[in-house]
Amino acid sequence: MKRRTGQDPSVTRNWKPATQAVRGGTARSEFGETSEALFLTSGYAYDCAGDAAARFAGEQAGMTYSRLQNPTVEMLEQRIALLEGAEACRTMATGMAAMTAALLCQVSQGDHIVQGRAAFGSCRWLTDSLLPRFGVTTTTIDARDPQQFEDAIRPNTKLFFFETPANPTMDVVDLEAVCAIARKHGIVTVVDNAFATPALQRPIDFGADVVAYSATKMMDGQGRVLAGAVCGSEDFIINTLLPFTRNTGPTLSAFNAWVVLKGLETLDLRIRRQSENAVKVGTFLEQRVPRVNFPALPSHPQHALFMRQMAAAGPIFSFEVDGGRAQAHALLDGLELIDISNNIGDSRSLMTHPSSTTHSGLAEEKRLEMGITEGMIRINVGLEDADDLIADLDQALRGAGL
Ligand SMILES: *Cc1c(COP(=O)(O)O)cnc(C)c1O
Repeated sequence: MKRRTGQDPSVTRNWKPATQAVRGGTARSEFGETSEALFLTSGYAYDCAGDAAARFAGEQAGMTYSRLQNPTVEMLEQRIALLEGAEACRTMATGMAAMTAALLCQVSQGDHIVQGRAAFGSCRWLTDSLLPRFGVTTTTIDARDPQQFEDAIRPNTKLFFFETPANPTMDVVDLEAVCAIARKHGIVTVVDNAFATPALQRPIDFGADVVAYSATKMMDGQGRVLAGAVCGSEDFIINTLLPFTRNTGPTLSAFNAWVVLKGLETLDLRIRRQSENAVKVGTFLEQRVPRVNFPALPSHPQHALFMRQMAAAGPIFSFEVDGGRAQAHALLDGLELIDISNNIGDSRSLMTHPSSTTHSGLAEEKRLEMGITEGMIRINVGLEDADDLIADLDQALRGAGL
């Protein structure tokens, strides 16, 4: 370990996650700064033309252009790779840039994807609307049942693509079972792990190949910047992902990378405290609304599987009221502390009505197939005192007749 300048990966890999979250990937400049430096530069200068040629030829280590490399961005990529237990990571400008790159870099005309029904709205648009234009087809299944993955496999199936837990229904996928099916058939698994983050769940430990993130959510964790990441084997990142991203340019800005580096320092603390608050709020809501979709609660049918895969509850879940959109909107309108906002992973508590916001771009029958009802509300439980959150929900529920 070079105390002042850089890190020896053989040492940092053995650090515990909480240590990696604070120190992993840090590369110090000649000034020995303690907090990571922010390199706002688009280009790099060379000592001579020969050096420039050697760098472009890949014969000399060093950076050439910030679409391809940036010191601040690389620190974040190394930190996320360490936390994820992945050989390599590349960051992207947003979570959707990460999902798009993770899929498009490896599919070709004629390929087939099997995807979980419950997913972030834009992820469904990618597979249902964009990819078919290029001859890539998708079968959508209930990902809670591993057998449905196996049954949907065709000779041209290239990928399994799913979230767990999924947005906003909280469907849980059995990572070990589904990744084993994929391995048996030579299929690549792409897991959107935005809700859990590596602090609570590391899909690669269960056999997943590629893990993709919206780092906008828990990794930043304070609702400031958009960011994304794709993790996988060195071979996948270098030979499959990079040719796509270097030339299409979904690059994360150095400033946003720096903000996410700061966010990761407190990820473990935040997610554990928010998880505790979420369980308190979920337990309260269970007494007051007909349905709470939160696998961390013992009453949930997927509780045992969820607890096997996740180190804690996470901050996000959904619940349902019987009075449809009108009652859901009335409940949101009655909130005094919790914000009506469709973001998640923030340290502030936020609530949204998915069918009229995040998933409004999908046809109603598609929403119902995904399990998103008109009475469903999603909540991100923040770092406020849980008693204040429960008091706010209590008065808003009463105002909405609940
Ligand atoms: C937010 C989110 C995305 C998209 O990420 P952006 O950073 O908003 O582009 C993808 N998947 C899941 C599960 C998300 O929650």
